[in-house]
Amino acid sequence: MTVRVRFAPSPTGMFHVGGARSALQNWIFAKQQGGVFVLRIEDTDAARNKPEWTEGILSALEWIGIARGSYEGPYFQSSYAGEHRAAAQRLYESGRAYYCDCTREDVQARTGSQYAGYDGYCRDRGLGPGEGRALRFRTPDEGETVVVDLIRGEPTFENKLIEDFVIARGDGSPVFLLANVVDDMTMGITHVIRAEEHLPNTPKQQLLWDALGVKPPVWAHVPVVVNEKRQKLSKRRDKVALEAYRDEGYLADAMRNYLMLLGWAPSGDREIVPWSVIEEEYRLEDVNPSPAFFDEKKLRAFNGEYIRALPVEEFIAACEPWLTGTDTIAPPPWQPEEFDPAAFAAVAPLAQTRIAVLSEIVPNVDFLFLADPLIDEAAWTKAMKEGSAELLDAAIAAFDALESWDAESLKSTLEAVGAERGLKLGKAQAPVRVAVTGRTVGLPLFESLQVLGRERTLTRLRAARVRLV
Ligand code: GLU
Repeated sequence: MTVRVRFAPSPTGMFHVGGARSALQNWIFAKQQGGVFVLRIEDTDAARNKPEWTEGILSALEWIGIARGSYEGPYFQSSYAGEHRAAAQRLYESGRAYYCDCTREDVQARTGSQYAGYDGYCRDRGLGPGEGRALRFRTPDEGETVVVDLIRGEPTFENKLIEDFVIARGDGSPVFLLANVVDDMTMGITHVIRAEEHLPNTPKQQLLWDALGVKPPVWAHVPVVVNEKRQKLSKRRDKVALEAYRDEGYLADAMRNYLMLLGWAPSGDREIVPWSVIEEEYRLEDVNPSPAFFDEKKLRAFNGEYIRALPVEEFIAACEPWLTGTDTIAPPPWQPEEFDPAAFAAVAPLAQTRIAVLSEIVPNVDFLFLADPLIDEAAWTKAMKEGSAELLDAAIAAFDALESWDAESLKSTLEAVGAERGLKLGKAQAPVRVAVTGRTVGLPLFESLQVLGRERTLTRLRAARVRLV
């Protein structure tokens, strides 16, 4: 039997990193089993769905390596409404479901509690379909439902504790629980790998599989992803959108590798391994069932390592969107024609070892592409001390007299200028750096000055000197 898995997101918001992780787990599992990955968009909540979210899902998947055309689908849940209704009808006709006209208030009045589940009042009233009548599943009174779960073993649920749950609303529309099962059946899904939050629904869903006469799938409920306070990652509180990470300059390779390390590790005490190793070694059975900490700081450090490991030409190409501006990424502070690829290529190896996310390239190199540096006032105050004006005068004169404008000569020149004033190189550099780049930290200074060129360097030093008068 061919293994068929599915990833079934609802297009109701930005694509969540937890969703990306489930998608990758399904993807890897299908690949390992020689199976098929199906994408199903669960778009039946018309009030919350938007077509652009579906497009966002497709492009986010593509970004992490699940490309359009390499999977089956996307199918849309809304196109299977006929199948959902037919299944509800079958369950009714076979006696596995019954109509119920109780209101919530009726149930509360009878049970004396607003939390009690349905009390089975309509089970044997023999009601037929009708406006406002919900269809409820008749759960077995005895026995237990054993869920076979690759991550959690065999969670077992007593049937008598499962209420007769609604499968179609009073207007006849099937609920998500049923639609989700019917789609999995229709699409021949053999393994359901999904978020832990769906585990409480699973015994009900498995009862539906049984009642519809189809062997249920094997399940794998993947642990939730939490923040440093052990709270479930939430859109309101945490940075959860995969797109936000992409647009900030996380590399897809770093991101997908990191997502797989949540609750799992490759062999040999390693964290940074090629994707092919993850595809080979990853086992759902080995995933830790407790909540996994999504550590943004670690991800950042991880990303820095991936950036440093890139061949320099790839690093240059990867930075391009931030340097030239695109529709999806914030445009840089310079005009497109001011960007000079050769100047960038000259400093790129220096920047590559210093940034953790690609967007950080902009503040590191903006001094090269702007007519005037963006002076950070706090940096200016910190660097410009008593004696800075004289130091700048001396540096301007000495730089101006240089025959060769190269990093080595610039360095020894400023070293000498500083020494005359009893200043170590670090101290002598600070006013020069702020005058030329606008900041107190950045790429190595003398290489930066070499690339910036004699004329622009001297103009900036003179402008700073004027400001100090
Ligand atoms: N559409 C559901 C969700 O996004 C997925 C349900 C499932 O995977 O079975 O949470």
